[in-house]
Amino acid sequence: MILIKNAVLIDEYMEQKEDILIEGKNIKYIGKNKIDRFVEETGNTDDIKIIDAQGKYLLPSFIDMHFHLRNPGLEYKQTYKEANDACIKGGYTKVVAMANTLPVADSADVINTVAENMKNLPLEVIQIASVTKNLQGKELVDFEELLKYTKLFSDDGKNVDNPEILREALIKSKELGFTILDHDEPETDMVRRNIEILRKTEGNLHFCHISKKESMQLIIKAKAEGLNATVEVTPHHLFSYNLDYRVNPPIASKEDVGFLIQSIKNGHVDVIGTDHAPHTDEDKANGAPGIINIETSYAMIRKVFKENEIPMKILSKLMSNNPSRMTGKDNHIKEGNEANLVILSDDKWNIDKSQFVTRSRNTPYDGWEVVGKVQYTIAKGEIVYDNARA
Ligand SMILES: [Zn+2]
Repeated sequence: MILIKNAVLIDEYMEQKEDILIEGKNIKYIGKNKIDRFVEETGNTDDIKIIDAQGKYLLPSFIDMHFHLRNPGLEYKQTYKEANDACIKGGYTKVVAMANTLPVADSADVINTVAENMKNLPLEVIQIASVTKNLQGKELVDFEELLKYTKLFSDDGKNVDNPEILREALIKSKELGFTILDHDEPETDMVRRNIEILRKTEGNLHFCHISKKESMQLIIKAKAEGLNATVEVTPHHLFSYNLDYRVNPPIASKEDVGFLIQSIKNGHVDVIGTDHAPHTDEDKANGAPGIINIETSYAMIRKVFKENEIPMKILSKLMSNNPSRMTGKDNHIKEGNEANLVILSDDKWNIDKSQFVTRSRNTPYDGWEVVGKVQYTIAKGEIVYDNARA
């Protein structure tokens, strides 16, 4: 059993200081009196690990809707084990892995390979499938078959260029009840076009990594109209502006960033997804777009939220509760729920890329100041990351 004392428990609905007891995989009790009574009744206190979390927050662990696992096939950028270690260090216990693997995740084979390789690691990976075969934008995957494994599909890294193909995919998404995660490049033009197609098909579309005011405005309108649209922003598009570092979409202007932050405050944004995309120095030098941030995303977001007075409840909603909902589970802090939790402090520190556990080093933020540190990550009732021991 694990007894966590004095933490402020936070999810999208709650914020209260309480003790919490974990037994087996689940949250057994919340509240000091109940826990005291239980401990008294059972008598044996030897096997209780006690964590004093005075001054710290306890949230449902983070879930990333936008992760590049780099496996199978690209382990020279990041191995399965490194992906696991980087995620739990960042407070994540579940990620949605994009389909641009080698071979592309357009078949049950690749999805099964990932599941096989991750089965003994605490990180839960939802390997999604591509929308089109081999990400070529020409022929749709077998949605009926792949729906046995995932309800999320994406050609992320590329547009679905052909509007007719996207139209067909969105019609299927409505018929069969799945969601397409959309990569838009150039962003605003593609967002505009895809909202048109969404309106006609009434499918389900999730806009990935939106960076620009104009694109966000279009999506806010589409949502107000009642279209089934959701929207993601990334840590790097909130944490910096006018920065010359190759990512897709590019880091935007101060005005764009300000609008994204305001959109979060106004409740228009659904998720913060990291778009963690490891590359070797060589691939980066050859122009590969992408940034690694799974180990620092909480600290980047906490800094932005603190500066802009955005409450922790919203952070929990965007980094955990909404992604959990979109991947089919309730992960609120409740008795009986599985104990996937993270304990966080508000320490100031500086990013040091030499300390990353993943092998890649593609970040422009080395040395930048951030706020907030993951102290413990708990997956299915087990402490899988302890900062004091890391
Ligand atoms: Zn993308």
